[in-house]
Amino acid sequence: MELTIRKMQKYLNEKYKRTKPEEMKNTQRYFLKLIEEVGELAEVIRKEQRMKDDNIKGTIEEEISDVLYYVLMIANTYDIDLEECFRKKEELNYVRYGYTLKIDDIQ
Ligand SMILES: [Mg+2]
Repeated sequence: MELTIRKMQKYLNEKYKRTKPEEMKNTQRYFLKLIEEVGELAEVIRKEQRMKDDNIKGTIEEEISDVLYYVLMIANTYDIDLEECFRKKEELNYVRYGYTLKIDDIQ
């Protein structure tokens, strides 16, 4: 089943509604966690620790997923639709940097 950014955001919203509803608007905590995970990502990139044999623990794949997790959580605290924002931001970049490829050119 395809996993989209929108589906990830809905999933995390539902997950926290069911498990930790009091944390759902805890933007500052999520921001600090994001910075923490960026640091962990820096370390595994420096050590070039890639996933092997489906074992994700301690790898770039794990830490970049953690970074994405907290980006999604922060977006959710502001009710931001990341797919919509990414599209709008790329439209700005298209004009600003003169790109020739638009997002809908990709199937
Ligand atoms: Mg981590």
